[in-house]
Amino acid sequence: MRTRQVFRSVGRLADGREIVYFDESPDTGRAEVADRRPLPPFSTGSQLRYDPLLDEWVALAAHRQHRTFLPPPDECPLDPTRGERLSEIPAGDYDVVVFENRFPSLAPAPADALPDAGGDPALAARPSAGRCEVVCFTSDHSASFSDLSPERARTVVEAWADRTAELGARPDVAHVYPFENRGIEIGVTLQHPHGQIYAYPFVPPRIAAMREAARKHRAATGANLFDTVVADERRAGRRIVAEGEHWTAFVPAAARWPYEIRLFPLRRVPTLADLDEAQRDELARDYLDLLRAFDGLFPQPDEGTDPPTPYISAWHQAPVGADGTPDSEFALHLQLFTLRRAPGKLKYLAGSESGMAAWINDVAPEDAADRIRAALPAVAARPTENKEQR
Ligand SMILES: [Zn+2]
Repeated sequence: MRTRQVFRSVGRLADGREIVYFDESPDTGRAEVADRRPLPPFSTGSQLRYDPLLDEWVALAAHRQHRTFLPPPDECPLDPTRGERLSEIPAGDYDVVVFENRFPSLAPAPADALPDAGGDPALAARPSAGRCEVVCFTSDHSASFSDLSPERARTVVEAWADRTAELGARPDVAHVYPFENRGIEIGVTLQHPHGQIYAYPFVPPRIAAMREAARKHRAATGANLFDTVVADERRAGRRIVAEGEHWTAFVPAAARWPYEIRLFPLRRVPTLADLDEAQRDELARDYLDLLRAFDGLFPQPDEGTDPPTPYISAWHQAPVGADGTPDSEFALHLQLFTLRRAPGKLKYLAGSESGMAAWINDVAPEDAADRIRAALPAVAARPTENKEQR
């Protein structure tokens, strides 16, 4: 794929929120189109509460209870504005667009939004910070990410990298997390193909645990933990599902979910913003292949009636320090997983997982790898061939 330029422009919505267009052609003028909605000024009362037993922060965002929930298709707020149907996107069309979430879990809140902690010694709270953004992958309401062209997927990669760099540089942000929830089963409240970006004011527990594991591994062996894990999986080969020139995808040996993939760049980088052009180009193609494989995991005899495979696609990036520099010991990677374990059957997080955070998986990772490989578009299913070349 030829590297293409992406044209970025920034506008403001009626309530002051930022909107960033990532256009595939120049001079669209989209960012200049005014938002005609009479919106009240954007404000949130989010707060962060500290749990001393787990040493973790919990975000409290009670205003989200009133967010838009599964609107009919003709009221989708993520469609472009068409005539008098005013949406979150003032322009009449877009390629990829990112804007601040109107109902954010994380957003700077004034100090007076905090409850009065006087007389409540157990309450340790601080005003929220950070930012939540929505990423629309296409203006086509009925598409999925897996329907996108490689060129469009490449534009999304560019948007992710741009947001990672910009949000990571903010003083109130410690970690930038692009993700997509797909499917009613995951709790999606808008059907339009979109993802989200959470810019956390703290390092989320999973990233903190990986960082600590990497620190211990470095102290014990002198090596980078992520490099070791990727090298070990590639040497084992058994769970590799796809490998190209710049990326490798495997089912982790200790997978938690019925079908779970980790996708790593072969040259370690801390964040999406640190990927070079060749890595970004191949990522766009590899990611589409993996999503299409997920869609092919549960072929339905009764085609058209079963909802597509629900999934969560979770970018793991390096935490950023107070000066905006990402932790170079941490390796960017994607975790892609579905909670569907068989047609019509979901894995529920029950007593052991929800109560103890101790995971029990019903599907052997080696079997999952076989099934994912079989579902991949032919061109991507080439792990053996690649191994022989190396
Ligand atoms: Zn829509």
